[in-house]
Amino acid sequence: MKQPKFIFVTGGVCSSLGKGIVASSTAAILKSGGLKVAIMKLDPYLNVDPGTMSPFQHGEVFVLDDGSETDLDLGHYERFIDVPLSGVCTVTTGRVYSEVLAEERDGKYLGGTIQVVPHITTKIKDKVKLAAKKMDVDVLVVEIGGTVGDIEAEPFLEVLRQMKNEFGNNLLSFHTTLLPYLAASKELKTKPTQLSVRELRRVGITPDVIFCRADVKIPKALLKKVAYFCDVPNECVIPAETVRSIYEVPLRFQKNNLGDIIADKFELGDIKFDLEDWEAGVQKMLRVKSEIKIGLAGKYNELDDAYLSVIEAAKAAGFHHGKRVQVEWIDTEKIEAKDEEEWTRLREVAGVIVPGGFGNRGTEGKIAVAQYARENKVPYLGLCLGSQIMAIEFARNVLGIADATSEEFDEENKSKNHVVHFIPEQRDIRKKGGTMRLGAYDCKIEKGTKAYEAYGTDQISERHRHRYEFNDAFLPKFEGSDFQISGRHPKTNLVEIVEIKDHPFMVASQFHPEFLSRPLRPHPLFRAFMEASVN
Ligand code: GLN
Repeated sequence: MKQPKFIFVTGGVCSSLGKGIVASSTAAILKSGGLKVAIMKLDPYLNVDPGTMSPFQHGEVFVLDDGSETDLDLGHYERFIDVPLSGVCTVTTGRVYSEVLAEERDGKYLGGTIQVVPHITTKIKDKVKLAAKKMDVDVLVVEIGGTVGDIEAEPFLEVLRQMKNEFGNNLLSFHTTLLPYLAASKELKTKPTQLSVRELRRVGITPDVIFCRADVKIPKALLKKVAYFCDVPNECVIPAETVRSIYEVPLRFQKNNLGDIIADKFELGDIKFDLEDWEAGVQKMLRVKSEIKIGLAGKYNELDDAYLSVIEAAKAAGFHHGKRVQVEWIDTEKIEAKDEEEWTRLREVAGVIVPGGFGNRGTEGKIAVAQYARENKVPYLGLCLGSQIMAIEFARNVLGIADATSEEFDEENKSKNHVVHFIPEQRDIRKKGGTMRLGAYDCKIEKGTKAYEAYGTDQISERHRHRYEFNDAFLPKFEGSDFQISGRHPKTNLVEIVEIKDHPFMVASQFHPEFLSRPLRPHPLFRAFMEASVN
């Protein structure tokens, strides 16, 4: 069996430095040299997985093909390296402890004393090795969440220390830090970086490469100073200045020979890192000036990160059509309350997206947005909840079923007209958790539909995360109308895509196309939606 190499990425000084982008960019460079790569996230929080964490606190839940609900960083990873990742690529402290504790209850430890070192650390190490094996990689990049010095991150750093011992030159340690800028003295400071590296050394880790984040250009002399004080070669201090687009980062890093530094340290021989296509794509993005306003209908004060993949997918589709997407938040609660200003903002967008969501709040506003889009022939893209909203709106306002709704919104079961209902197959296992239809499922698309036109094929596979679904009992009522079912799951016949016939583009999917969109290969549905919006 081949010996996989490991690159661990840690962060120092403060959070939100973009360790995920450093990990992703490193892997993207290596992939461009023909190496087989994957990225793994070790998250120090105690939640067992991010599936039940609020997207408004923690950002979106990203879903993988195998149905794993993960941190949004996995979305960055997939967008940068375009490799479908697996559930083995995400580990939280909560998951590790729950497994170790379950084993203890099972008597696996034969009454021994269970400790962080070695039991927790061994479990983490096993998971890192499993990821390398399962993903069958040449290089596994492992991002350790949190900041060096955090209480929660200690066991993960200990794992890095132990694995360095075990794997020697087959393991590299990257550290991402910040050089803060002092406006008064007009200079960047290196002391926090020195202290952060000192903290790493305290736990037995010596960084091989240091990435210095800064919002301004970093003078060469300062990079040298970091190298000197932190005891790494000059070429191994890589400037990571804030750039216009995160997709520029791999290009910047490779300008500083990151790929070659890694190849050298791992003794990989002569590798040519070819980022030409990436470069061309990024240059194209950066040249785009002309803007287009796209509405995103959600609840107020939502975090951009809650819809990160949707926004990234819209932007990629925009660039594809020579437009820079400006996302306009449409607050559906204000729409519901007939707030004139909010309605004016809605009328100004070229197209509107109703994204995924859970619960009742703001749904009447979303239905009003769908009605507005349908009646005024404004391009509409519905994502998961957005497809259910589209069916409800049509049932109410075209088919005349005044109390049409979703079982999800009708807690007191007042309506007989659940046009959207709980997925029948999942009904007997109904409880709060564990009932979601998750991950990749096939869909067969009807020829002659807008969906078919967008995809150019009738066989697709897309990622899901939902409990509710179009209720086929209402099908006879929809038949003969402008509401068309354009795709179904071949085995269960569950509705996957719906669209409105007499409309420039009103298409919605029960799945989440945003998870499969890539910066240089925008998703077909987003691309078609954007094309209609541009027109
Ligand atoms: N709440 C809806 C459901 O569970 C939609 C889910 C979603 O948009 N991801 O089916």
